[in-house]
Amino acid sequence: MTDITKVYEFKSELGRGAFSVVYLGVHKATQKNYAIKVINKVDLGKDYEKNLKMEVDILKKVDHPNIIALKELFDTQDKLYLVMELVTGGELFDKIVEKGSYSEKDASALVQKIVSAVGYLHSVGIVHRDLKPENLLLKTKNDDLEVAIADFGLSKIVGNSVVMQTACGTPSYVAPEVLNATAYDKEVDMWSVGVITYILLCGFPPFYGDTVPEIFEQIMEANYDFPEDYWGQISKEAKDFIQKLLVVDVSKRLSAQDALKHPWLTSGNAPNTVIN
Ligand code: ADP
Ligand code: MG
Repeated sequence: MTDITKVYEFKSELGRGAFSVVYLGVHKATQKNYAIKVINKVDLGKDYEKNLKMEVDILKKVDHPNIIALKELFDTQDKLYLVMELVTGGELFDKIVEKGSYSEKDASALVQKIVSAVGYLHSVGIVHRDLKPENLLLKTKNDDLEVAIADFGLSKIVGNSVVMQTACGTPSYVAPEVLNATAYDKEVDMWSVGVITYILLCGFPPFYGDTVPEIFEQIMEANYDFPEDYWGQISKEAKDFIQKLLVVDVSKRLSAQDALKHPWLTSGNAPNTVIN
């Protein structure tokens, strides 16, 4: 295998996750910029290495405008380098913090893209399992609506997201069946879409508590509400969309295909009001 530093020049650090550091990399031959994610295999443990390889092969085939494309891969004894399409708009999480919340019209356009990308992943047999605003990146600085899913599949490889989320102390996005430790599948992503939509519209999460077990308890019962101060001016369709996603029974939760047909995503005329 070619030495990656012969092909790419490593520049600044772009971000970090639990198991990786992402750098700006310049392809020496073309001078084009990429994001290079460096995963320390030692941190992963032997078991995951085989899955990692298989998963990466799938990722290379993924082709959707709202999913970060994987260009190539360098595999060494102790590190794995994923060369990806570079996006420059930062994490959706930071954008929400900056804006407070999205208008309904913008949130609906953004969620439509996220659901379309999630539906595509599901149709090719990939479950993201770690959808959250930190893993949704904006393609450019001056467009809040062009989003790209990053970090997909890796939570599946890297391991059990309950353990990870618990370790990080932020279980806000985890679905109830994950906590139940039963078999879970693509429905988990749609639960996350519900949580993300909720946050986009009001700026705070639906499930909260002072301790991690308290948050888990709220999630297990899908115990959340739409406080009037923040949600009073938000449409019935938006609330209905969220209510059909934050459903504990996975068989009753909207699939990506069904979500795309929901009036809140199809009407394209959600009121353009921002609360707070
Ligand atoms: P992890 O699997 O370790 O969580 P991520 O794929 O989420 O890693 O990447 C960590 C951070 O690096 C992201 O939250 C983002 O800030 C940055 N990043 C990841 N991919 C890209 C990319 N393609 N372009 C620009 N920045 C990126
Ligand atoms: Mg991440």
